[in-house]
Amino acid sequence: MLFDATGVDPDILRTRYADTFKRYLAAGVDITREPMLVAPAPHTSLGGVCIDARCRVLKSDGSPIPGLFAAGEVTGGIHGLNRIGGNAGTEVLVFGRIAGREAASEANNQPRNMRNTRNLSTLSNFQP
Ligand SMILES: Cc1cc2nc3c(=O)[nH]c(=O)nc-3n(C[C@H](O)[C@H](O)[C@H](O)COP(=O)(O)OP(=O)(O)OC[C@H]3O[C@@H](n4cnc5c(N)ncnc54)[C@H](O)[C@@H]3O)c2cc1C
Repeated sequence: MLFDATGVDPDILRTRYADTFKRYLAAGVDITREPMLVAPAPHTSLGGVCIDARCRVLKSDGSPIPGLFAAGEVTGGIHGLNRIGGNAGTEVLVFGRIAGREAASEANNQPRNMRNTRNLSTLSNFQP
């Protein structure tokens, strides 16, 4: 794919896009005079854990796994097919808060004897 920036003021290309300008020039292309060859590239790779709006981790049938919450890079699908650069900071704050709140709420709603970690066997026996 060719990206033509020859209509842009050459001084802007040389100063504001100095890295790009120098990199192409080193390869023999003056982007102030000719189009540059560009190609799509992966920006990021995210995890495959599916969550719902309450950050509950979902099984493949869409039902939640009891007591398991997730947020951040381990999850996928929050941003659609691509995550725009810089959005991860907001994501981890927003979804991390939701996941923490939901996990605390679920723990508080357990009968007292279920709060003991020895009773987490139900989670460790889970079959996805
Ligand atoms: C080079 C680089 C630049 C970036 N720049 C930006 C940017 O400018 N703006 C932006 O929004 N995003 C940016 N990101 C993305 C952003 O930093 C991440 O998406 C975000 O930090 C992910 O947060 P997280 O909590 O999901 O995961 P992490 O920050 O990876 O946290 C996971 C934590 O879990 C811990 N852990 C792992 N395994 C275990 C285990 N078994 N037991 C206990 N703990 C464990 C790890 O030590 C780590 O502390 C950048 C990422 C990189 C790599």
